[in-house]
Amino acid sequence: MLELNHIKKIYHDGDIEVKALNDVSLTIARGEMVAIMGPSGSGKSTFMNVLGCLDQPTSGSYRLNGQEVAERTQRELATIRNRELGFVFQSFNLLPKLTALQNVELPLVYAGVPAQRRAEMAQQALDRVDLAHRVRHRPKELSGGQQQRVAIARALVNNPRLILADEPTGNLDSHSSVEVMALFQELHRSGITVVLVTHEPDIAEYTQRVIRFRDGQVVADEVIRPKRAEKEVASA
Ligand code: ATP
Ligand code: MG
Repeated sequence: MLELNHIKKIYHDGDIEVKALNDVSLTIARGEMVAIMGPSGSGKSTFMNVLGCLDQPTSGSYRLNGQEVAERTQRELATIRNRELGFVFQSFNLLPKLTALQNVELPLVYAGVPAQRRAEMAQQALDRVDLAHRVRHRPKELSGGQQQRVAIARALVNNPRLILADEPTGNLDSHSSVEVMALFQELHRSGITVVLVTHEPDIAEYTQRVIRFRDGQVVADEVIRPKRAEKEVASA
């Protein structure tokens, strides 16, 4: 479903050329769960931005579901981002004044879904991340792990086929991190493709495949047997 061939992303920093991605070719099949690892500055976020159609590569081919992304119009790309992809970030990116439910509803507001339907869909997404009992809470009334689950519910509310997460556990303690990984594993089992960036080898162990970047290149790509993240029974 994701096919990259000879992808380069070059930034110009004054006279200096930064090859953030330097000839990356790889394929991620539908339904895979992949960890992207590598040192700071190795191109992981740049890679995720390309995958998420948030940024265009300087050269090379990126085919998403068989279609060349570079040939899409801006409007088509916006539709892909809104309908097919879900994004999760390290810093949750929740709006502090909105309740959990309202935060999850946001992508649907942009998509023009009527209010009643929006609330139903957001409620379902919050059920899916085990936060049905926290819908009226605002972000500061939730733990870090719960906030990240709200962010994941927001990424899920459009029923995306692909979830892209850039260091989703970077701001979480180890207990909440495992909880979030349990949730990603559940989404993966339901058929969603999950690609996540992590610095932590312990977190990468919960995926099926680990791709390592260095200096904008893929230096290792291995299939592993995923460790199972056990969900807390009484996760409140
Ligand atoms: P980290 O682990 O610190 O998040 P990363 O692997 O995600 O690092 P990227 O953010 O992809 O790294 O950056 C790769 C390289 O591209 C770095 O050298 C960075 O400085 C450079 N870079 C990234 N974004 C830009 C930009 N918008 N303009 C110029 N250079 C950039
Ligand atoms: Mg990064």
